[in-house]
Amino acid sequence: MQYMENHFDKRLDPTKLVDDSKSVVSLLLNYFPSEVQGDPSAPKLSKYAYGTDYHFVIKDKLKSLLQYIQEEIGEVSGRAFVDSAPVLDKAWAAKAGLGWIGKHSNLLTQQVGSFYFIAELIIDLDLEYDTPTTDHCGTCTACIDACPTQAIVDPYVVDGSKCISYFTIELKEQLPTSLKGQFDDWMFGCDVCQDVCPWNRFSKPHSEPLFNPHPELLSMTKSDWEEITQETFSKVFQKSAVKRTKYSGLKRNIQFLKK
Ligand code: SF4
Ligand code: SF4
Repeated sequence: MQYMENHFDKRLDPTKLVDDSKSVVSLLLNYFPSEVQGDPSAPKLSKYAYGTDYHFVIKDKLKSLLQYIQEEIGEVSGRAFVDSAPVLDKAWAAKAGLGWIGKHSNLLTQQVGSFYFIAELIIDLDLEYDTPTTDHCGTCTACIDACPTQAIVDPYVVDGSKCISYFTIELKEQLPTSLKGQFDDWMFGCDVCQDVCPWNRFSKPHSEPLFNPHPELLSMTKSDWEEITQETFSKVFQKSAVKRTKYSGLKRNIQFLKK
């Protein structure tokens, strides 16, 4: 959070991130899987973390895009961002008309739902700019009603310190015993507010092979997860974002879900 505060002006002003920047090119990449975990009683893993860490996958794609722009247009300078710099990626994507920010605070599109990574290229090239789209949440409150920890405290306002994603990924200390039984079996991240969103009926499976999970991951049963060894963890999450929480963090989360 301190990092966010320190970089607040940079988040608002792309010229502070890239000298002479003129345009933000916002991009989405689908990660909706064709298959989910097979055992309905197994501890759950957020869909975005099934395959290779998206930071690596997307950075490579952005580099290729910048290179393509340079080949086509000439001297263009820019920088690629995937969560890794203090950029307001959802706000930029909404401003670019890629979708609207839903009541669950994720970017949401009428055509393809919300299971998308967002990334940006900030470049020193003038472009024709898109305009924002409209909000289509209407009177729906499905995400607010379904959140297991009541983290969506008001429409469009998620209290990050109450969100299961924060607890299972960011929190380094012990999980608060007051929340025992409220995690709805999520061991890494949480997809509830996106899973219940009616617009995600339009989600279609991604076509990025690197986002496919390790062949054993989706068939792991509840007891496989409860008995997971360091060796299995390293194998099934070899290049995954789950590595952020380390073996000890995932074990802590799985232990917390036990009745
Ligand atoms: S990710 Fe889960 S815990 Fe966080 S706001 Fe959405 S439903 Fe609530
Ligand atoms: S579940 Fe309903 S309120 Fe929540 S983001 Fe989706 S459409 Fe909006």
